[in-house]
Amino acid sequence: MNIIFFGPPAAGKGTQAKIIQDKYGLQQLSTGDMLRAEIEAGSDLGLKAKTLMDQGMLVPDDVVIGMIARRIDSPACAKGAIFDGFPRTVAQAEALDDMLAARGKKIDIVMALSVDQDKLVARMEKRAAEEGRSDDNIAALKKRLEQYNSYAAEVLPYYRARGDVPDIDGNQDIGGVTMQIERILAGK
Ligand code: AMP
Repeated sequence: MNIIFFGPPAAGKGTQAKIIQDKYGLQQLSTGDMLRAEIEAGSDLGLKAKTLMDQGMLVPDDVVIGMIARRIDSPACAKGAIFDGFPRTVAQAEALDDMLAARGKKIDIVMALSVDQDKLVARMEKRAAEEGRSDDNIAALKKRLEQYNSYAAEVLPYYRARGDVPDIDGNQDIGGVTMQIERILAGK
């Protein structure tokens, strides 16, 4: 089963993806985590991405598509993947469709997490204190939310045109959000 977790920054996509990964044996594929690993490793790609990420801008499509393409055939993805923070553009969504179709697979479900803005700010402040991410600051958050609103307006209709995109109330606590996700997965 291949799942997309769609939602604004700090909505809890990563937290939920890890829980579902462990319970269902699916592999979380987070382009944000991959980019942070590149930065940590000091690679050229990481260096270029960091400037954009710190400004709350998207990194180029070919960079993130390439990162996903390099992992999609890994044994960990045999039972499927949870795409977390990818796709963020229609070009990425189309590339993902093509990659999966070439392997006789498809996206089975797209879940859209929504969280009130004041909660997002509070979660981001907490994460900034805990993890020290350089893009978890108010200026970058504002930009990331603006970016989110504009790419959501393109990517969500792309998936809605093909079928149901269930909404998840991400304002609830972690367990409450997991319960909503599991209910949807049980119906698949
Ligand atoms: P995230 O951890 O998913 O919030 O991603 C952190 C940052 O990495 C984003 O603000 C973007 O700069 C970059 N990024 C992550 N995933 C993508 C993507 N699919 N497309 C473009 N940029 C991305």
